[in-house]
Amino acid sequence: MKNVSLFDLLDYLPRTDCGTCVSGNCTEFARRLQSEEATLDECKRLFAGGYEEEIEELKDLLK
Ligand code: SF4
Repeated sequence: MKNVSLFDLLDYLPRTDCGTCVSGNCTEFARRLQSEEATLDECKRLFAGGYEEEIEELKDLLK
């Protein structure tokens, strides 16, 4: 488990609950990131453009 808060992770995710990742929603995805069951690249929405700063923040949080 990463020593990072779920809410900090969620802050930088798209929070659209688009449902395209296996987690189904952003809160569950943040939980899976925190417990190292998921990797950032599983959120396709994040890498579709417009979230470059958020990606860098998330990478820092997950170091
Ligand atoms: S793919 Fe990304 S934006 Fe969509 S539900 Fe999953 S974490 Fe949220």
